[in-house]
Amino acid sequence: MSPQISHMAQHFGIVLGSAICWQCQQNTSVSALLLDKFQQRFDEDDPWEQTTEPSLLGFISFISPEAENAWLQEAPLVALAATRSSEATYYANHCSHCGAVQGDWHLREPGAAFFPVDATGIDSLTLRWIRKPIQAAASSAQSSWQDELVARYPQIRQ
Ligand SMILES: [Zn+2]
Repeated sequence: MSPQISHMAQHFGIVLGSAICWQCQQNTSVSALLLDKFQQRFDEDDPWEQTTEPSLLGFISFISPEAENAWLQEAPLVALAATRSSEATYYANHCSHCGAVQGDWHLREPGAAFFPVDATGIDSLTLRWIRKPIQAAASSAQSSWQDELVARYPQIRQ
């Protein structure tokens, strides 16, 4: 079965941060993907919509191979995982110490790695642009911290 692509872009961003593992309480690297100019559709029959609002991808169940390679080079702790809280298999961060899956919801709660609530939280993140096309099956969410992060890394954005 071919994956239902929900997001397409000509480039994408890799967000790198850190989180405290819920299982072993140690600090571990975590990563997420961000799109700033992309097309999305909510259902296979919907038309593609152009979007220029930075959006963080979540629950990525499929990613095109070239983009996947680029991501996993930057974030080797990311791998497909089946989690208890979610029926589906998706790309999740794994703890570098104990291997526990760091759930997507958990990382995107207010105050967590991928929902900074102040400048210090944004300071702790790094954004790396990848000049490669991406296709993904995922959800996406917009938030003002993503605008701020993108503004700090203007290399690709025009
Ligand atoms: Zn751990």
